[in-house]
Amino acid sequence: MRALVFESFAGPLSVQEVPVPDPAPGGVVVRVAASGICRSDWHAWQGHDADVVLPHVPGHELAGTVEAVGGGIRRWRVGDRVTVPFVNACGRCAQCAAGDHQVCAHQTQPGFTHWGSLAEFVALDAADVNLVAVPEELDLTTAAALGCRYATAFRAVTQIGRVRPGEWVAVHGCGGVGLSAVQIAVAAGARVVAIDVSAAALDLARQLGAEHTVDGGADVPVAVQDLTAGGAHVSLDALGAPVTCGNSLRSLRPRGRHVQVGLLPPEQGRAEVPMERVIALELEVLGSHGMAAHAYPGLLGLIAAGRLDPGRLVTRTLALDESAPALADVGRRPGIAVVTSF
Ligand SMILES: [Zn+2]
Ligand SMILES: [Zn+2]
Repeated sequence: MRALVFESFAGPLSVQEVPVPDPAPGGVVVRVAASGICRSDWHAWQGHDADVVLPHVPGHELAGTVEAVGGGIRRWRVGDRVTVPFVNACGRCAQCAAGDHQVCAHQTQPGFTHWGSLAEFVALDAADVNLVAVPEELDLTTAAALGCRYATAFRAVTQIGRVRPGEWVAVHGCGGVGLSAVQIAVAAGARVVAIDVSAAALDLARQLGAEHTVDGGADVPVAVQDLTAGGAHVSLDALGAPVTCGNSLRSLRPRGRHVQVGLLPPEQGRAEVPMERVIALELEVLGSHGMAAHAYPGLLGLIAAGRLDPGRLVTRTLALDESAPALADVGRRPGIAVVTSF
């Protein structure tokens, strides 16, 4: 099969012929119809994820059809249209028993712990636990975004951030996950301030319903405090950088909730968290890590009802042969880029 491969960290990315994977017991192999290119793929390529073994195929934000099933599969058959959270939970540990599959102790992640979905086929573990059926009315290109960025934003805004109507939400970083968070927060009835260094990304944020935008080069906390008359109720670092993390914490009003969504690999510097402010203002500092497969029906229901429209976030579709420069330049162009031909 054809796949995007790197053989050294931050080294050349090239499309190569590699063996088609076999399904593991309890797992499936999916023929990939669409695979988004996410900042986490860039982190894997850069060597920021200790799970990655070289040579490697990135890609974790996917949708497609079941091509082969391993032994013991009950829920899926060949031809089923599916997507999957990027965290593939074991289904058996204490976290899974509590429903917290997104922090499973024995999780695997396509594109990190094994070869991923920027390829014609991808192997997925514990399919009965992790696969999500894609409704006929949802196209697979849009469904791919549900594997990582859109579902992650949905959980960060609605479940972790507990955003309520009328609250101010600040979104720091308007890449794929940030723009998703803007759309979801607006749909939840929040008033959104979007922050980014890119004017094009801020334009898109306004189109998605952001009430105010702030240039990331400005004094962001002061600007957010001014625009929201005292600070955001909820603030998300949707980029994952020490500066956006710090800005997010300083953008909050008393008792505000900071949600860390973007990855913060220590290789890029540790974020300085103003704990004196956390104490004095009784801030909450929260992490958000994907979303369990069993939580998808709520999200899919809002999409079917027209309340959420992840398709608006997909601004570019590409061929696999175009994926190398797109991955290397991730974040340069606004919106979500999805590989749709392999
Ligand atoms: Zn991702
Ligand atoms: Zn588990």
